[in-house]
Amino acid sequence: MRTIGLLGGMSWESTIPYYREINRYVAERLGGFHSARIAMWSVDFHRLEALASAGDWEEIGRILADRARRLEQAGADFIVLCTNTMHKVAPEIESAVDVPLLHIADAIGEAARESGIRTVGLLGTRFTMAEPFYRERLAMRHGLEVLVPTAEQREVVDRVIFHELVKGELLEESREAYVEIIDELAARGAEGVILGCTEIGMLVAPGDASIPLYDSAAIHARRAAELALSMPHGA
Ligand code: GLU
Repeated sequence: MRTIGLLGGMSWESTIPYYREINRYVAERLGGFHSARIAMWSVDFHRLEALASAGDWEEIGRILADRARRLEQAGADFIVLCTNTMHKVAPEIESAVDVPLLHIADAIGEAARESGIRTVGLLGTRFTMAEPFYRERLAMRHGLEVLVPTAEQREVVDRVIFHELVKGELLEESREAYVEIIDELAARGAEGVILGCTEIGMLVAPGDASIPLYDSAAIHARRAAELALSMPHGA
């Protein structure tokens, strides 16, 4: 089994499901007392969030590249960045380490294509929904047509993430607002919706919508566990 390098804390609320999902999958696959080999670096999100709001992605890139390097030094065989938004600096992280980065958009893109859909809705932070780094990867590498909510809806989705979800607050009215936005994306032609922010899966469950939902945290964690088990290595 390979060692997974988890770069988390963005937010810590959504890093917990990663740790749980990965260990659960490994335990199920290997049985006995098996659990995953994990090295984790959890950042102080306050600073990262402030830098993102100020648009200082260069500094974010420097910080996360440095933390990825430390994970590599700790023995990580590959890096899992437990947030969609921070993949904006994926190239900086990739060039700082010799081990691969398991890109979250590739994990989601593959899962969506495996289920046979072509048009997906995307929910996430304002950065993930509006900027090209995530949508273009889904389109170019995975042949997906990506629909995003209207500007007004994007504000709602983003506000709920930063004011509620990253603090572990789950409100029924916010769940209803999300479901309404998902329904509208379906009416515009989305065959499924990507929960492209690692906290959204805590608020909205697959049964809440009439179309399939792709939970980025759950899918990414699952791919990480599969990858760790796909190559025998160490104890
Ligand atoms: N966890 C979130 C995501 O998946 C947002 C927090 C962040 O800005 O990294 O995008």
